[in-house]
Amino acid sequence: MNKILIKGVLLDSVIQDILIEGNLITQTGSNLRAENAKIIDGGNKAALPAFYNMHTHSAMEILRGYADDMALMPWLQDKIWPVEGKMTEEDVYWGTKFACLEMIKSGTVLANDMYWHWHGEARAAQEMGIRMINGFTVLDLLDDSRLPQIQAEVEKVYEASQNYGELVELSLAPHAIYTVSEKTLIWTADYARNHGLRLHIHVAETEHEFLECQKKHGLTPIEYLDKIGILGEDVIAAHMIWLSEHDFELVKKHNLTVVHCPVSNMKLSSGIFKYQEYQKRDIPVCVATDGCSSNNNLDLFEEMKFAALLPKIAGGNPEIAPAAEIYKTTTINPARALGLAAGEVKAGNLADIILIDLENLNLIPQHNLSSNLVYSAHADCVSTTICNGKVLMEERKIPDEKVIVRNFRRVVQALT
Ligand SMILES: [Zn+2]
Repeated sequence: MNKILIKGVLLDSVIQDILIEGNLITQTGSNLRAENAKIIDGGNKAALPAFYNMHTHSAMEILRGYADDMALMPWLQDKIWPVEGKMTEEDVYWGTKFACLEMIKSGTVLANDMYWHWHGEARAAQEMGIRMINGFTVLDLLDDSRLPQIQAEVEKVYEASQNYGELVELSLAPHAIYTVSEKTLIWTADYARNHGLRLHIHVAETEHEFLECQKKHGLTPIEYLDKIGILGEDVIAAHMIWLSEHDFELVKKHNLTVVHCPVSNMKLSSGIFKYQEYQKRDIPVCVATDGCSSNNNLDLFEEMKFAALLPKIAGGNPEIAPAAEIYKTTTINPARALGLAAGEVKAGNLADIILIDLENLNLIPQHNLSSNLVYSAHADCVSTTICNGKVLMEERKIPDEKVIVRNFRRVVQALT
C-alpha cells in the first residue's frame, strides 16, 4: 500500500506528523513511524485541507483574456460561443490539463466542472490525478425538438463515464433556464435521479434572467425550477444572486448546494450575492472561481478574499464574512455538500492535503493563519499538493509541466 509520512508539520497549531496510507489519513500525532513510507519534511510548513472549486469550466483557460469588460449575453453570444463552437476534444483536453496545472499549483484538488467535449476534460483530470465532477452540458437553446439528440448523447456518455477511475464522476449540467427548454430540463433531472447523478446548473445569475422568468412564467427562477421539479439536495446551483424572500425558503427546504462566484459576478456586473441572507438562514455557501474567461484565473486564495470583501462593502459592516468563516467555503463546506470525508486534516479523512510554506513573505508574521490565507496569501505559498493519497506537486514541481504548457499554447494559437 502507498504510504506517505509527513514529518514535523504545523497542524492545528501543533507541530506533528501525518501518516497517509492508501487514500486516507490514518494517523496524526508525534513520533509516528511507518515502514516503506515516502517521507516528506514538513519543516516550516503548515498542513491544510486542499481546496475544492465548486463551479468552473476548466478548459475555458483557452479564453483567458480573450474577451473582457462585456455584459454576459453579448459576451457569450459574440465572443465565447463562436470559439467554443470550433473547439475539438483535443483542444479541451489540453485546456483542462493546463487548468489542472493552475489548480494544483494553487492547492485545489477538486473541480466541479461544466463544459463541452466531456471525454477531453475527463481524460485530462484522470491523468493529472485531481477529483472532477464532470458536468455533461445540456443545452437546447429553448428548442425541445433537440431533446432526442441530447438523450442519445447523455446515454452514450453515461455508458462511457465509468472508464475514468474513481476520481472522475459524471454529473448532468443543464446550462441555465434561459438556454434549456422546460421539457429538456425535466428530462435531464429525471435521468440524473434515475442514475444517481448530481445536477449542476447556473441559477439566478442576472437581473435579466430574473425579470424574464417572471415575465414568462410569473415566477422567480428558483420558483420556476421548484414548480417543474428540478430542485433537490443533488442540485449544485451556481451564482444564486437574484433571490426573493420566498426563494431563500425554497433553497433551505430543498437543501440546495449554493455556490458563490464573487469575481465572475463583479466582472460581468451580474449583481451582489446576498451573503448575509444565506448566513442568517444557516445555509452553507461554497465559493468558486467560475471559468477563466470571467475571472480570469482559478486561484481560490484570491476568490476567498473577494468573497470576504464583497459582503462587507455591500452590507456596510466590516464584521460580516470573517476570514475563518470564508475559509470554510472552499474546504469543509464543499466537502460536506458532496458527502466526502474531507475538508479537514484528520485521521479517517481522505488524504486531500496541501502544505503551505510558512517562509513565504505573505505568511509572515503569523498572528492568525486563516486571516493570512484569506487576505494575504497567493497561490505561490503552496509547496506540496496531495490528492487521494497521491502527491501531485512537490516543492512546486509537477511532472510534464513544460509539455502541457507547450501543447496548450499550440491549441490556443490554432483556435484564436
Ligand atoms: Zn459558470
